[in-house]
Amino acid sequence: MTTSSYIGRFAPTPSGHLHFGSLVAALASYLDARHVGGRWLVRMEDLDPPREMPGAQDAILRALEIYGLHWDGEIIRQSERQAAYAAMIERLLQQGLAYACNCSRKQLEGHHGIYPGTCRNRQLPPDDAAIRLRVPELDYHFCDRVQGKYRQHLAREVGDFVIRRRDGLYAYQLAVVLDDAWQGITDIVRGADLLDSTPRQLYLQELLGLPQPRYLHVPLIIQPDGHKLGKSYRSPPLPADQAPTLLVRALRALGQQPPEALAACSTDEVLDWAISHWDALRIPRCRTLAEAQLR
Ligand code: GLU
Repeated sequence: MTTSSYIGRFAPTPSGHLHFGSLVAALASYLDARHVGGRWLVRMEDLDPPREMPGAQDAILRALEIYGLHWDGEIIRQSERQAAYAAMIERLLQQGLAYACNCSRKQLEGHHGIYPGTCRNRQLPPDDAAIRLRVPELDYHFCDRVQGKYRQHLAREVGDFVIRRRDGLYAYQLAVVLDDAWQGITDIVRGADLLDSTPRQLYLQELLGLPQPRYLHVPLIIQPDGHKLGKSYRSPPLPADQAPTLLVRALRALGQQPPEALAACSTDEVLDWAISHWDALRIPRCRTLAEAQLR
């Protein structure tokens, strides 16, 4: 039973197994919701079939269940939301807020990932082209519950960004904003690798008249070579028989100070302790944490 208006979510991309870093993010989001009696949803961000690992969707959901992170309601899949994204692209094009771009990758080299605006006023037909959103010459800022104040000047630091790729696939930035609003998400808890996507999402929310959720970005768990877990290699699945141990390790990563004895308890006991003792203020105020230091 839920007793508050809090609605959180975990939104994995099925490009690989759930790994320790995604467990930390999922756990933080779950605990932040359950501590206040809120709802916790799972949304499969399967926007990019070529990047999807066969079987990853089921494997992620199974791992969440084994680790005791039970979600509310039905799973939403972004692959089933294409009509909503298409309608929004259409609307943004009609309003002149977005435009078609046929710049090649080569043309964009040397701009440090910031789109130089080449196609802004070219009125190209949208078929067979990428669609970019015009960004304003403005600073967007918000106060993250862990990372504090964060600001970004959209025009200078990002540039007009892609909301539909040339191959017709919809971009994460557009889908995430539409779906968070559609699902009534009040609180977004996710990895700090998405901190610098947030100003783009704030701009889209403002443009579309959508409510702005609260944000909490947890430190990203990194490998000794500085890479995000699961990015540079295919992570193996989380071991099914070590859920209490790994949940306790994830709690430590989140600064929660679980008692030593907790690792010998059942998964449900670990989570019960964690829900009642959850304190987001204890989460380390840093962007990354080295996995090796958490063992
Ligand atoms: N699907 C994204 C990822 O797995 C997360 C999106 C989000 O939480 O906003 O990195």
